[in-house]
Formats: sequence, C-alpha cells, structure tokens
Amino acid sequence: MRKIILAGNWKMFKTQAETLAFVQDFKPELDELPEGREVVLCVPFTDLAILSKSLHGSQVSVGAQNVHWEETGAFTGEISAPMLLEVGVRYVVIGHSERRQLFGETDETVNFRLRAAQKAGLVPILCVGETKLQRDRGEAESVIFQQLKAGLMGVDQASLVIAYEPIWAIGTGDTCATDEANRIIGLIRSRLDNKDVTIQYGGSVKPEIIDEIMAQPEIDGVLVGGASLEAKGFGRIVNYK
Ligand code: PEP
Repeated sequence: MRKIILAGNWKMFKTQAETLAFVQDFKPELDELPEGREVVLCVPFTDLAILSKSLHGSQVSVGAQNVHWEETGAFTGEISAPMLLEVGVRYVVIGHSERRQLFGETDETVNFRLRAAQKAGLVPILCVGETKLQRDRGEAESVIFQQLKAGLMGVDQASLVIAYEPIWAIGTGDTCATDEANRIIGLIRSRLDNKDVTIQYGGSVKPEIIDEIMAQPEIDGVLVGGASLEAKGFGRIVNYK
C-alpha cells in the first residue's frame, strides 16, 4: 500500500536554538494528526541530534539532506550513513536539485548515495525534476525518465520515496498546476517496478494549496521547503483535509 509522507526540507536554515523553538510550536499541531500520515523533517546536520531527542515518541521522523556512499574516509565536508543513524535519522534526501545544480551532483553520484543509504537502513527520498528550459522544449518527461533510469540502478524500490520537484517551481512561488503534477507523477509510477512507491510533489507547496495537491490521486505526499520553516503553516500542511 502507498504511504502518505509529508516532509519538510529546511535546507540551510535554523540553528539548534531555533530548532527547539520550532518543536515547541509544532508539537501541538500533531495533536489531531489523522492516522496513516508520516511526517518527516529533513534538517541541517547540526540540528539532527537535538531534533531526534526533542521529537522522540512523536509521529515525526528525522531526515538528513545528504549522505556519502562510503562509511568513513577522506571526504571533507561529507557525512556517512552510520553517522546519521547514530543520531536517529531515518530518511535522507538525495539528488535535490540544489545539490545537482550548485554542488555537482550527478545521476551517478545520486545512485551511489541511494544504494549506500539503503544498505545502511536509511530510506532515501530521491528528487527528480526538470528545468524551465527543458519543460519549454518539451523535454520534461525524457529528463525525468533518464534521472530515474540512472538513479535507480540497483536500488531496492521497496524502501524508497521519490519526490517530483520541477526545478522552476522550487522557491519561486510558481507551483506546478496540480493536475500536471499528478500527470507527471503517474508517468513516474508507470516506470517503476514497484507501484507502491510513495511519490511526493515538491515546489512552492503552501498551506493554501495543500488540500488541492493532496486531492490528486497519484500524489502521495509533499516535500516542502520554505513553508516547512514555520510551525503553524507546516502544521496546516500535515493536517491537510
Ligand atoms: C524544496 O526545497 O525541496 C522545495 C520544494 O522548496 P520550496 O517548497 O521552498 O519550493
């Protein structure tokens, strides 16, 4: 069965003190969380331990925003799966467009990271999506299919989340039309061996449009950047109607 997963991606925002303040405001938002929804917060490395501790026993899982494929080694600035597991991490975002565009992440390194995450017992959230130029040229589908083909080589689809994140919709306020997001997510599902993979939509998700997004039959959740930084707004998102 497809799981509903509502995830926040804090990117490079919030100190530990700000994280604790968020948790205090966010906990009441979980009081009436409907059954069958999983909430995940993917936060900066320095916030992981404190978030795990302060959310212990709640319905919220902790996620990281990257993982290296080796367990240890001379990889300055990277982090390994055992290090993440030690501080209570369960999910990890891999192949976010900001990593692909700003930090040289490729389909090959995405694939290495996915396989290492799974081998260690972490659940990867694989991000795929096209640029505005690729969409305008009619290449959205082929770009996404290539990202899936290369990224998912040797990956176990039983322990995987995919986020469809059109790059032109990330942080721009320009949300993808919900029926178009639904169409692309349906196409992604058609390419998978396991039809029960949770597939999220991400790109300028806001409390005002969450009900419409989640009403789409192919969309199993959301990956939320900016709107996950504020407890009340993210609370409205996880409690979508
Ligand atoms: C993201 O960071 O994955 C994202 C979708 O950001 P935003 O919601 O701010 O567009």
